[in-house]
Amino acid sequence: MSDDLQYVRNEKGEVAVPCQVKMASNCAGQGEFCEDEEDARDWVEDECWIDSGVGFICLQCNELIMRNLREVRPKTAR
Ligand SMILES: [Zn+2]
Repeated sequence: MSDDLQYVRNEKGEVAVPCQVKMASNCAGQGEFCEDEEDARDWVEDECWIDSGVGFICLQCNELIMRNLREVRPKTAR
């Protein structure tokens, strides 16, 4: 996996993986702040965030996306 992820960094220099979409009102925003990028990514993977290929999507946003997908499905399916 490429390491093009945009990490967020706090004032202590710790890193976290941000939610890629930040769509849900209860979006986690970012994962837990960890010592380094690898730990931060391990954390979101442990939390089962969705790997989109370019970033990670938190569970709250993923749920919202799934719900939206169901709602936009055409009503006149043939
Ligand atoms: Zn989110």
